[in-house]
Amino acid sequence: MRQDWTYTRLRRFLAPIFASLAEPKTDIIDLAGVALGKSKLACLLMRESAIREGVFRRLVASIMAEGFFVADLNGNIGLSAEYSKSINMAHLPVWLVTRSADLLLDLVNDYRALQPQGKGLWEMHLGRALGYPECCIARYSKAAARSDGVVEYWHDIRKENETTPQILLGFGVCRAGCPRAVRPILDRLDVAAELGLLNHERASRWLNWVAPKADMRSQWFTPIRYDLSDLIPIRIPVSWGDIATQNHTANGNRRVND
Ligand SMILES: [Zn+2]
Repeated sequence: MRQDWTYTRLRRFLAPIFASLAEPKTDIIDLAGVALGKSKLACLLMRESAIREGVFRRLVASIMAEGFFVADLNGNIGLSAEYSKSINMAHLPVWLVTRSADLLLDLVNDYRALQPQGKGLWEMHLGRALGYPECCIARYSKAAARSDGVVEYWHDIRKENETTPQILLGFGVCRAGCPRAVRPILDRLDVAAELGLLNHERASRWLNWVAPKADMRSQWFTPIRYDLSDLIPIRIPVSWGDIATQNHTANGNRRVND
């Protein structure tokens, strides 16, 4: 179990933000990836309460204190006196977190330019910035262009995850076993493992299943090295099956991955 300074700091950084993430909170893996320097951008879906000015400013301050840049899609960084006015506009509780101020500014400007054009253009652009494969983004952006399309999309993804050993870590694949999705999924599994959030049984089932279908490098099969399950008090699932089970737990306690 690693208890070094990096992980103590990571825990302190993630804990307050975790509480403000919308379910199923798998975005914590993208955020940890940015904090660990394993990815350049995280897109966080926040709870509605996180757009309240006081909460927003507090969380933005704690993210910026760690040396990261954050903004909502309107370009608010928590310091603008205009914030309370702009939250009355059409406001999505989506935050972008990155190490690069330039990347953040570019994305906010891109959102302003692309969103009014519809047809999933912004989703396609954001998907590329997040490093998802083109084929998988195309499926999502096609759905996003339809009213209720995103709801149907996640419904379909969930159904597919029930019938195949797919792993869902905040993004859906275009088809079962998409070979171009293997790498981004493995990167996320790596972060999940470091956080102690990995469902080992499901991850190894998926690895065994995709191995014959993709060009797998043997190092990806090295056993998980760390157990950091005490890093965050609540474990998150990596599959829809677990999410569904947890959401229906009557006493509200989250089941530990088994
Ligand atoms: Zn794909």
